[in-house]
Amino acid sequence: MSPTDELTQRHFFGDHDPQTLLERFGSPLYVYNEAIFRQRCREMRRLIRYEPFTANYSIKANSNLALLRIAREEGLHADAMSPGEIYALEQAGFKPEQIFFVPNNVSAPELGYALERQICVSLDSLDQLALAGRLSPGLDVAIRINPGLGAGHHAKVITAGKKTKFGINAEQLDEARAIARRHHLRITGVNQHIGSLFMEPPAYLRAARHFFELAAGFPDLHFVDLGGGFGIPYHKLDGEARLDLQELQEGLDLLVSDFVQRYGRPVTVKTEPGRYVVAESGVLLGTVHALKENDGVVYAGTDIGFNVLARPMLYDSWHDIVVYRDGQPLEADPDRLQAVTVVGNICESGDILAKNRPLPPLCPGDQLAVLDAGAYGYAMSSNYNNRLRPAEVLIRQDGTAALIRRRETTEDLLRTCLEI
Ligand SMILES: *Cc1c(COP(=O)(O)O)cnc(C)c1O
Repeated sequence: MSPTDELTQRHFFGDHDPQTLLERFGSPLYVYNEAIFRQRCREMRRLIRYEPFTANYSIKANSNLALLRIAREEGLHADAMSPGEIYALEQAGFKPEQIFFVPNNVSAPELGYALERQICVSLDSLDQLALAGRLSPGLDVAIRINPGLGAGHHAKVITAGKKTKFGINAEQLDEARAIARRHHLRITGVNQHIGSLFMEPPAYLRAARHFFELAAGFPDLHFVDLGGGFGIPYHKLDGEARLDLQELQEGLDLLVSDFVQRYGRPVTVKTEPGRYVVAESGVLLGTVHALKENDGVVYAGTDIGFNVLARPMLYDSWHDIVVYRDGQPLEADPDRLQAVTVVGNICESGDILAKNRPLPPLCPGDQLAVLDAGAYGYAMSSNYNNRLRPAEVLIRQDGTAALIRRRETTEDLLRTCLEI
């Protein structure tokens, strides 16, 4: 039985059900399943057979400390995008050599924060490469290359290709080498990240092949980092297939051994998975508070506003929704489904979680489970409308529930305000 089956078979919540969890910890609530999280960590850790290989968890997807500690136990390394992410990783016990700093547009003090800690950095532009050279002449650095190929589920998450802000253009690599020479920097790593949420191995493999060709132009490499973007099936209730890791593994192993042979010596291969590691281990629970019909549209008003889960509003993302009543899932009998627009409690008309979604007829008090909410869920939550960010709970492997982040309080909202 795969963890996904476990989810649909109601083992996701361990000894609990959504109603008892919401009674105990409040609503809305992020719930993570430790067994699923560990399983996804292991799948990424073993993505290819070639060694040395590291999977760097991109912690912007979810940086809860308890989850970071588990990811470390599972042998993942980590990517940080900001000093705050480096700080969280240190608190979770990651060593500097297990952290890769891949920022863009950072200040000198921010770059210095990583350099002081001997953390390997990747520079995203010629200016930032020169900055690293001024701060630390003689350093070993990586550069992020924009290979000119992109992939992703939405224009906002395609992170390579001519139309994005990321990386040093493939045409500027000579200039990058010249800047490095001037500052006695050694380019010992190259990374790319072509976008987020691909579901078919060939797109990633094509990008990897192309990237290895660019990498061959750097004689001092210690590592080649192929980036993240591994997709997960957000339409799993409709039977959407998983990313074929086997096909990916076979393709990557071939490309890597071919590269290493041509390059003449082994390099470390890295990847940067974020979503794949954590999305499916998280469910967002919320409560239906009101139903109404406006101009022919049925609205279910819930406490899951875009302050809690921003993805649907930001990217028109789909999240499967399962309805629970008194803790038990309502059967999605096709003859009884009713199209409902599920909205939150934020004062914006764009505060829509799901549009015209066929769901069993809802009642106030029903619980909603929003699936695959572990990645870019809590991480993108906010205090908009002075709403409190929710609590986070981990269902341990023994079925018990542990609070891993408390709900905010109203006092937290004013924590940073000063009297004048
Ligand atoms: C966000 C990001 C990732 C992770 O992307 P996923 O789609 O979550 O796997 C990896 N690398 C970089 C540079 C990123 O910005």
